[in-house]
Amino acid sequence: MPTPVVVLAVLAVSVVAVAMIDLTRQDVRVLPKWAWGLIVLVAFPIGVIAYLVMGRCRPWDDPPDDDSIVASRVDTSEAIDRPAARSGVRPAGPPLILATGLSKWYGTAIALDRVDLQIPRGSTYGLIGPNGAGKTTIISVLAGLRRPTAGTVTLAVDRRKIAVLVDTPRFEPWLTAAEVVDLARHLMAPGLPGSRVEQALAEVDLREARGPVGGFSRGMLQRLGLAACLVGDPALLILDEPCSALDPAGRREVLDLIGRLARTATVVLSTHSLADVQQVCDTVAVVDRGRIRFEGAITDLLARSASVFALQVRPPATGLVDALRDRPWVTEAAEPVPGRIRLVVGDTARAEREIPRLIADRRERLIALTPMTNLETAFLDLTS
Ligand code: ATP
Repeated sequence: MPTPVVVLAVLAVSVVAVAMIDLTRQDVRVLPKWAWGLIVLVAFPIGVIAYLVMGRCRPWDDPPDDDSIVASRVDTSEAIDRPAARSGVRPAGPPLILATGLSKWYGTAIALDRVDLQIPRGSTYGLIGPNGAGKTTIISVLAGLRRPTAGTVTLAVDRRKIAVLVDTPRFEPWLTAAEVVDLARHLMAPGLPGSRVEQALAEVDLREARGPVGGFSRGMLQRLGLAACLVGDPALLILDEPCSALDPAGRREVLDLIGRLARTATVVLSTHSLADVQQVCDTVAVVDRGRIRFEGAITDLLARSASVFALQVRPPATGLVDALRDRPWVTEAAEPVPGRIRLVVGDTARAEREIPRLIADRRERLIALTPMTNLETAFLDLTS
């Protein structure tokens, strides 16, 4: 006959085992999984109770369909200030999205590590980063599709005015394009007239597309997803790789469309394409290994990498490259084509002051001195 002590011990071990199994299968909150595991193991029975009450994600937590991460709502009919950020000045006023200390764990892997973001109202905000950096996770958390392990998101916009385009949109294959977009209109903005469907399809060049969407190409599905987002006149449009399946002409059209949309909505664009970001975004965040390496005006990011210059002089400029190499602020100088010199400098300000003087002193003829700032250089500096 087992003694009460043995019964209690078996019970305790069973409860801890069940809690540990549950822990491996569930999403958790407040602390990472390993921390909860430790607490459950060493602090019986308080640890198990704490895990069940505080650590375990509840069914209604994921995805969050309440307003727990919407700290405030404002009337989205108020005018959206257009950004001055294109010129490097960020718009004044509270951000449309404020994310603080966002972390996301998938099991024991950290996808986001204490991410802080401020997305200005009216901006076209590019989220760039290498594969696996955490862009999709950020977008999913901002859109309320995934729950962060820690941190908060404050949205100053009504959730019904947010449209999200995932990178590979899928629709019921038997519906037509017009039916898909009309369904989106009913869900997002049933008050808007049916004529919006036709307009949205025209905006993405799909008005002529007939037949069920099951026969659409990937590029067509991406355009259709965009039309389904546009039909509700969103105040915030979140796009995950919206051009990834498009040919160059389609890409051009979608980027032009994003540029036009930026007049009436805030756009968050996640992409690998630095050229796309440079073309349409005024504000940018660089994400790498779950952390934000830079956030701010794109012009500020470009200014950080202003260390490479293309110098053009009238050839022959004999000895100029050697003279440049002798300067302490020049790291590299090469003249692959006569008169065209590529310079890498350690001190940009000094280079800008002294290069024209050096050329004038040597009686050479300066044609152009151009900083080769591009997003790729800035991006590689931050992520390599
Ligand atoms: P890509 O540009 O390649 O799409 P990304 O920047 O969008 O990448 P995420 O998809 O957010 O990156 O992934 C960030 C990290 O989280 C990656 O290491 C990824 O493997 C991991 N991850 C993402 N989703 C899950 C998941 N459902 N389960 C486990 N790990 C995941």
